[in-house]
Amino acid sequence: MSPSPQPVDVLIVGAGFAGLYMLHKARRQGLNALVIEAADGVGGTWYHNRYPGARVDIQSMEYSFSFDEALQQDWHWTERFADQPELLRYANHVADRFALRDGIRFNTRLNGADFDEAAQRWLARADSGERWSARFLVMACGPLSSPNQPDFPGLDNFAGRVLHTARWPHEAVDFSGQRVGVIGTGSSAVQAIPVIAAQAAQLTVFQRTATYAVPAHNGPLDAEFEAGIKAEYAAFREANQRMMGGFGSLQPPNRISALAVSAAEREAMFEDRWQVGGFGLLGTFSDLIVNPAANELACEFVRNKIRATVTDAATAERLCPSHPIGCKRLCVDTGYYASFNRPNVQLVDLQQSPIEGFTPQGLVAGGVDHHFDALVLATGFDAMTGTLLKLDLRGRGGRRLQDHWRAGPLNYLGLTIAGFPNLFNVAGPGSTSAFTNVIVSIEHHIDWIADCIAYLDANGLATIDATPEAEADYVAHVNTVAARTIYLNCNSWYLGANIPGKPRMFMPLFGYPAYVQRCAEVAAQGYAGFVLA
Ligand code: NAP
Repeated sequence: MSPSPQPVDVLIVGAGFAGLYMLHKARRQGLNALVIEAADGVGGTWYHNRYPGARVDIQSMEYSFSFDEALQQDWHWTERFADQPELLRYANHVADRFALRDGIRFNTRLNGADFDEAAQRWLARADSGERWSARFLVMACGPLSSPNQPDFPGLDNFAGRVLHTARWPHEAVDFSGQRVGVIGTGSSAVQAIPVIAAQAAQLTVFQRTATYAVPAHNGPLDAEFEAGIKAEYAAFREANQRMMGGFGSLQPPNRISALAVSAAEREAMFEDRWQVGGFGLLGTFSDLIVNPAANELACEFVRNKIRATVTDAATAERLCPSHPIGCKRLCVDTGYYASFNRPNVQLVDLQQSPIEGFTPQGLVAGGVDHHFDALVLATGFDAMTGTLLKLDLRGRGGRRLQDHWRAGPLNYLGLTIAGFPNLFNVAGPGSTSAFTNVIVSIEHHIDWIADCIAYLDANGLATIDATPEAEADYVAHVNTVAARTIYLNCNSWYLGANIPGKPRMFMPLFGYPAYVQRCAEVAAQGYAGFVLA
């Protein structure tokens, strides 16, 4: 007979940034908390995504925890945009600095959890056979943690090595002298392609949808810049809190329409931001995300950059995207488009030449045989819902999450799910996480959850559960906000459109400050929209 479940106040799933901060925060609140983590180390995204060129697309000085002044003063980033090894070192530093490791059970994967209505607790079980009885279940698994491995018929025929960017091996992968194929041209591919191109004998990029990429202009972190931020770190964090994405206060959006200036002025303003690099390009004008005509001007600016960079005119045209810029997550690159000028790199447009099948030597697309020794799948994630839906989570009355989310991920405040009391989902659907500096979103969520638990405890309450009405209203709100933007005008992972058969529902909320305000108001009103018992 299996031993009885171990009691904990808070069971946290995942030891990425969200899980680490939740554990720290829960402990400081006097709660008995445990993290279970399937991997053998901390870091989440930065543990798994070790592909060549992997680095953050938000500036390092912003992409870090703000909850501890000594931490943010002591930590030194070496580059403007930190790379994956440095980000993983940071996650490990946080785990050690706050003595978190003894609260993390590594190599332990959650299988499922049932809400026991009599006990008002979650009964959770892991693949190790261990079980826990938890008052609160915090899903800190990350919105981009289930790799999308498309069902390519015949892939098994390929005799070479197949790698996925999101499950990259820990040991170095050496492509020297090899022929490599890459499928996908999203953020992961855009970072990996220039590095692989410089190493491999030959690289073939299979593109289904062309992508917009803005230069990172990465380099060593400027010491004066770092000192300036650190002198007023709290004020810098506060300024970022007021930004739509919780970042970018160093280059706030301009308050002028793209349609209100002359063509020459517009070009100069886009160029200014292009020279700075990063996401700031989307803030060149106030209406790029809400007005398709304004957006198209930004699209054409980037297309002209592609045409000016890529010497072969036909390849340049194939690299020019046609969807609105920003509709899919903008990529931040170092030499992506220029990689296609290398004699060892070729582009295959899958729209014109679809994949027909795989051979031991490679694949056939549009009737042409492509041979390679290794294939890199840079095909992204089953975003925002994939990880939770792989679990067997059952709320009140044994209702399965798969049934509750059949038509899309219903949620209230992007944090809770009606009928799944005391379960909190960090940075999930309905939250602004996907549009933000995710560490800012994580800190906001964890603080909200910790305050909520403290409120329940202070008022002698056992459970909090969203009402179905609040949930329905909230999901409608997320979609109303999206409908005012260009975000519904392409097939993005925000919509679930990258996964065949996934319900098409816009999942993230746009606008971080208004979201934070709404979450605060709900709490201030005694958790309006929830049943507390
Ligand atoms: P992604 O943006 O979803 O890109 C996946 C790529 O694979 C797309 O080009 C997609 O084409 C292609 N693809 C998917 N299924 C395919 C199929 N069956 N056949 C052919 N092509 C297929 O995934 P990602 O690049 O891993 O990035 C996901 C998110 O992770 C990003 O948006 C970002 O939020 C985050 N990320 C951030 C960074 C960073 O810079 N810090 C780096 C990597 C990832 P379609 O466009 O046609 O679907």
